[in-house]
Amino acid sequence: MMKTWHILGAGSLGTLWATRLARAGLPVCLILRDQARLAQYRNHGSHLTLVTQEGCERLSIDARTLDDHAPIERLLVACKAYDAEQAVAQLASHLVPGAQVILLQNGLGSQEAVAARIPEARCIFASSTEGAFREADWQVRFAGHGFTWLGDAADPAPPSALLEELHCAGIPHQWTPDILTRLWRKLALNCAINPLTVLHSCRNGDLLQHPCEVATLCDELTGLLQCCGQPAAASDLHEEVLRVIRATAANFSSMYQDVAHGRRTEISYLLGYACAAAQRHQYALPHLQQLHRRLAQHLASKGLRSD
Ligand code: NAP
Repeated sequence: MMKTWHILGAGSLGTLWATRLARAGLPVCLILRDQARLAQYRNHGSHLTLVTQEGCERLSIDARTLDDHAPIERLLVACKAYDAEQAVAQLASHLVPGAQVILLQNGLGSQEAVAARIPEARCIFASSTEGAFREADWQVRFAGHGFTWLGDAADPAPPSALLEELHCAGIPHQWTPDILTRLWRKLALNCAINPLTVLHSCRNGDLLQHPCEVATLCDELTGLLQCCGQPAAASDLHEEVLRVIRATAANFSSMYQDVAHGRRTEISYLLGYACAAAQRHQYALPHLQQLHRRLAQHLASKGLRSD
């Protein structure tokens, strides 16, 4: 019998995954936050819409709420980093022992927090460069093709059946024994680019006008990664940051967009995590810490949460 893909969080990435899995004929069930949200989904016709360059696709997909007690063998956690632990804790008792749980959150910190809540499950960490955003409730635009790395820091054996289903669904992915290296690398890239785009209120490419600031942050982040036992993630970081800035010059970073739309950012799982790791290792990061303080003040001045 096929395992149902339970999708916790029918937002941008959750919808992108749910629709592609359902399109491939795989069993999918959304887990919505409460009865009111479930009623909205049912009133909408119990379908999700994926918008791509080729057009719109409408997929009928089952849904339930967090209080439904049916057992869960496979779960995709597609909430924001700051919501993941609480949301998973609410359904922890429905996970069967050995359940596979994929964590799509950006940054670091939320994955360990979730894994600690569900010690009987197999937590698979993911790092994705795919891009999607919500155009409307239950409708998501696939904005950027990308790739997803998956791995389990505690067990390098690939979950073959799960990966085969991702292949059938056309979700580009690869299993890696070095998922923590990938997550640290992405965290460092995000820390070097995203906060500056918010503070300078600019597109990624405009950071080329602030070369010293970028170089200083890259220096500190490189030292931090080495100090945290992540030398591969540290390798040529500055060059890659500059490459990403040039390749995405016309884009607004995800953090810029969150602030522009008055949404909470994932600052605690990016800069906050880096600064806390530095403190644990008694490693000095004066510029990164100052950046964290400036960003937190900036968010507070806009009435946004700074945690
Ligand atoms: P999003 O569009 O805000 O979606 C998050 C979803 O989680 C929302 O649908 C929200 O429900 C739901 N949710 C929150 N708490 C919940 C709860 N307790 N129970 C059930 N559902 C709950 O976020 P996203 O952009 O998909 O991002 C998800 C993660 O992926 C983030 O860590 C992000 O950094 C990462 N990521 C995103 C992208 C991208 O392109 N979007 C790319 C790479 C990585 P409501 O709809 O009810 O608010």
